[in-house]
Amino acid sequence: MTTLISTPSSAPIPPATGNPARYVSTRGNGGVCAFDEVLLRGLAPDGGLYLPQGWPTLAPELLSPNTPAGYIDLVRAVLHPFIGEALPASDINQAIDQAVGSFNHATVTPIKQIDDGLWLLELFHGPTMAFKDCAMRLMAPLASAALKKTDDHLLLITATSGDTGAAAVRAFAGADRITMVVLHPKGRVSPVQYQQMATVDAPNVLNLAVAGDFDDCQAMVKALLADNDLRDGRRVSSVNSINWGRLAGQIPYYLHACRSLGGPARFIVPTGNFGDAFAGWAAKMMGAPVAGITAAVNANDALARAINTGIYAREKAVPTASVSMDVQAPSNFERMVFEAAGRQPGAVREVFDRFTAEGTVTLPPALTGPLREELTAISIDEATTAQTMADVYRDTGEVICPHTAVGVAAAKTLPRNGAPRVVLATAHAAKFPDSVEAAIGMPPARPDAIAALDDLPEFITDIPADLAAAKREILARVT
Ligand SMILES: *Cc1c(COP(=O)(O)O)cnc(C)c1O
Repeated sequence: MTTLISTPSSAPIPPATGNPARYVSTRGNGGVCAFDEVLLRGLAPDGGLYLPQGWPTLAPELLSPNTPAGYIDLVRAVLHPFIGEALPASDINQAIDQAVGSFNHATVTPIKQIDDGLWLLELFHGPTMAFKDCAMRLMAPLASAALKKTDDHLLLITATSGDTGAAAVRAFAGADRITMVVLHPKGRVSPVQYQQMATVDAPNVLNLAVAGDFDDCQAMVKALLADNDLRDGRRVSSVNSINWGRLAGQIPYYLHACRSLGGPARFIVPTGNFGDAFAGWAAKMMGAPVAGITAAVNANDALARAINTGIYAREKAVPTASVSMDVQAPSNFERMVFEAAGRQPGAVREVFDRFTAEGTVTLPPALTGPLREELTAISIDEATTAQTMADVYRDTGEVICPHTAVGVAAAKTLPRNGAPRVVLATAHAAKFPDSVEAAIGMPPARPDAIAALDDLPEFITDIPADLAAAKREILARVT
């Protein structure tokens, strides 16, 4: 008879220990490159996503509640090791000063208690009132610095359902050596998001309103990114959250929250493409006392099913009130699978090749074990999301956005005892007035910065959902 030795089903993933300023692809055939190349490319040439060879370790005093260091010092401490020698330190520091300076709160990303052991991490004090400002504001000047190095130009093309486009247009307006093109589905972004995009008057920005839906926009962007005519004499890329530059810029606020609380915290992250949640996991790898990460998804629950059942299957996306999270195949999940696989690209290729080919894949226990050790995931339905907005307003007077509400509802399913639960408040309620009013019975207050957009002229080009039309407009803008 053999005796079965009981081993724990899984152990935490140990932080990779290579050089944080050198990058590898999750698919294993992207070579090794530096931050500037990673930033300008977005996707690796083998179709994988870039990750640093190893996680830098933060100086423990940076996380001490007694340190005089502010948010900006945390951004510096995070970015310098990831960039290394790839860009001049003065360019990096200037980009950080400019990015952090665009926020209008003294502590940049404040935390606010709303219940026993329950906090909101407010990420909406930037120019477009959603967390995407945190990283996009860094990316623009860093990309300009990277282009200066090789005397290049960059054409960025991105599809948006609202928040990404608003943050991108405003961050990249006027950026040196860069043209920013954003495609949004006409009439299907919130009025505030529309105004934040449309009122930007900059020769290097092109807002395309596509007579179609978000999927049409995404399909057009995919084709445009592969179009050789657009590549003539310039680089072409995108600014979605597959870009490591964006994730790196989202790590500092996790550190800031842990430091503000003076110890460990559990983070609940309203999740779409899993970029923000992965940044939280990266913070943990860098030494932050992250006691847990919960990915809170809406009815588009492919990620939660993958973690909880081991079956990763693509379904048709359904529209919800938390529209920036209406994602069915979260792109950054690949990074987490790479880590769960002990950084073996072969295992990543097996999972994602099958997922691409068949739309569904069963994750082996060797992957689900470490994934469940590192993460929990929960799907919140529309009725609960609305009820949570109403409950939070009734109990605390706080008006939260539907994305944040998905996070708060998920947090309430976690045990109350334990490390503080910190929900990422990913957008300001005023960006989503209709769903907020439907839930709490009155519209959210309109901040002055939003009201001020009413009087500004709009710069929008209407096009049909047609590739040739988009290409014509873009070529006219870049030459
Ligand atoms: C983009 C977005 C999310 C989802 O973030 P991911 O990094 O894609 O998971 C959540 N909330 C808001 C308000 C957003 O704009």
